[in-house]
Amino acid sequence: MSWTLSGRSAVVTGGTRGIGLGIARVLARAGARTAVVSRKEEEAAESAAMIGHDCQGYGTNICDASALDTLMRTVAERQGGIDVLCANAGIFPQRPIEEMTADDWAEVMDVNLKGTFLTVKAALPYLKQSDQARIVLTSSITGPVTGYAGWSHYAASKAGQLGFMRTAALELAPHSITINAVLPGNILTEGLSELGQEYLDQMAAAVPLRRLGHVEDIGNAALFLASREAAYITGQTLIVDGGQTLPES
Ligand code: NAP
Repeated sequence: MSWTLSGRSAVVTGGTRGIGLGIARVLARAGARTAVVSRKEEEAAESAAMIGHDCQGYGTNICDASALDTLMRTVAERQGGIDVLCANAGIFPQRPIEEMTADDWAEVMDVNLKGTFLTVKAALPYLKQSDQARIVLTSSITGPVTGYAGWSHYAASKAGQLGFMRTAALELAPHSITINAVLPGNILTEGLSELGQEYLDQMAAAVPLRRLGHVEDIGNAALFLASREAAYITGQTLIVDGGQTLPES
């Protein structure tokens, strides 16, 4: 079976690189008119041009509610509504608890958790008008399933996204809007590469399928959750980690 998003309109935050770019590529290839969003307008335009399929790039900070309102209105006008929202943008700075400041904590919560809420809220007026409305969050195995030293704030934000999602699923169900989350393991992206080769080697060795994930692995999971065929799935999580969270030791 190949899932199609032909004639659908999609928005992917953090769609200029890494996992978001992978998601946007897969959705655009499946026929969706796709918008990619990051804070840097020029980079967003470049990524959109690389994706092709008439993809458009937008510079918007997901922590800014009024900028998000403008973004969603502009995208809806240009793409004829919004059917699929992939709230993917996120940050993962590392800091041990003893060195972590309140500002470090707040920054991660602002982008990963408040940014997710604000992104979903801004898209709702348009999703409510769609007959195939889908929200896909990019959470993580870190927090919901596992822990990792140095990521207490990040883990809390990613687990928090799932609490938000489960209640949102109930609130949005009367509008036939589904909301689900993909939980990536270690996916080779620009952001992950910044953690260094030692981290990448250690993680690849811990994956039963013996490789880090490709961004398209997450894109394909997002495409399924965005598809017509996933209409009866809401408030759920899909782990895409090459089996990393399976071993008992
Ligand atoms: P990445 O390569 O660093 O890309 C992050 C994207 O988010 C960029 O497009 C970035 O663009 C955008 N972004 C960051 N802050 C933003 C803001 N305030 N407003 C708008 N856009 C913003 O990261 P990634 O590895 O692809 O990760 C993407 C998502 O997957 C994150 O939510 C992350 O937590 C999650 N995740 C990743 C992995 C992994 O192994 N890579 C594993 C589990 C979960 P600008 O910086 O230009 O704004």
